[in-house]
Amino acid sequence: MKNFNFHTPTKILFGKNKVSEIGPEIKQFGSRVLLVYGGGSVKKIGLYDQVVEQLRNHNLFFVELSGVQPNPRITSVREGVRLCREHKLDFILAMGGGSVIDASKAIAAGVNYQGDPWDFPMRKARVENPLPIGTILTLAATGSEMNGNAVITNEETQEKRGMASDLLKPKFSVLDPVYTFSVNRYHTAAGTVDMMSHLFENYFAPGEGTFVQDSIAEAILKTCIKYGPIALEEPENYEARANLLWAGSLALNGLTVTGKLMGDWATHAIEHEVSAIYDLTHGAGLAIIHPVWMKYVLNEKTAPKFARMARNVWNVDDPNDLSAAEKGIDAIRKFFSSLGMPATLSEVNIPDEHFEEMGQKACVFGPIGTFKRLNADDVVAILKKAI
Ligand code: NAP
Ligand code: FE
Repeated sequence: MKNFNFHTPTKILFGKNKVSEIGPEIKQFGSRVLLVYGGGSVKKIGLYDQVVEQLRNHNLFFVELSGVQPNPRITSVREGVRLCREHKLDFILAMGGGSVIDASKAIAAGVNYQGDPWDFPMRKARVENPLPIGTILTLAATGSEMNGNAVITNEETQEKRGMASDLLKPKFSVLDPVYTFSVNRYHTAAGTVDMMSHLFENYFAPGEGTFVQDSIAEAILKTCIKYGPIALEEPENYEARANLLWAGSLALNGLTVTGKLMGDWATHAIEHEVSAIYDLTHGAGLAIIHPVWMKYVLNEKTAPKFARMARNVWNVDDPNDLSAAEKGIDAIRKFFSSLGMPATLSEVNIPDEHFEEMGQKACVFGPIGTFKRLNADDVVAILKKAI
């Protein structure tokens, strides 16, 4: 296990009606709020009205940025930056899923930066002095509510890129499972796949002696396997929604990568190229690509780690590491299919037309992946196997 610092400053307000506590939380950091949300689900579930009431009760001035799309666009970010400057806002409140939260982080980073906020994902600028943000999460998936990452799409260049800074970790996040009751089957499944994929990214990563971290990851995976299908069948099952919600935060708050150099993240990088061009739901893209990546990097050397997961998570009973690993990967594919997620790019009407371009773009900053380094040709090979 390597040395590490672990600091997750986000205060989690978990449970029913926790939104009633946001006023004093916001007041610790600011008094003029940019309220960010997406296409309107927050209004349908009554969250919008509750939040506005809280802001008014606490005399908090606010301006709204609505219409943030899934796979959030840099144009929304630029608009948010403009609103913050024009109205001299000092706090950002995101209510929605990962897309709304990610857009809010990029806005927070952009307000006190003189250049274009697209510079952050393009690694041309470092985040300094961002506005503080708080979140009210409505979809269990990304972990964005408890980490410093954001993924933004540039619709003009058809690029989707990540940015990260500890400074962007939310000051607080409200996790009320009731708000996730209305998430439909497709997004519930995609969210479950996303959190599982985050666990895979950090589990299949170089590093030794991280038994406890990997065991935590296995427990969170088992939580997804137990409660994902229940949430699909019984969308208002509080226990299932609560477990999934907390699982999503724990899966990507840094806990499971402590003691390792870093996670692999090649699958996410490849998926980002696919959704940058085809606007595919992130979790659906991961459901297609992650098992393909696993088979691609499986060899004598990597088999023991895959076999460990196969035995501990997927109940594979096979003493041979290589065949146990294969059975574990097959079980993952089967589970994703049981959630109704696609298994191939063809199923979501994605042809091989842009594979070369995706390979080049995925490796624009150099080879990807730490468990196994992949170059642009590897990416193309994985995409071809995924078709
Ligand atoms: P999302 O894109 O935020 O939302 C997907 C859809 O779900 C939207 O149409 C949204 O509608 C709807 N929705 C959200 N909450 C709902 C609710 N309670 N009831 C009904 N509908 C609801 O989904 P996401 O999976 O959370 O975020 C995906 C994005 O995050 C991708 O861009 C992905 O690349 C990124 N990501 C970020 C991280 C990170 O660490 N920051 C990690 C992985 C992925 P409305 O627009 O109407 O709200
Ligand atoms: Fe993800």
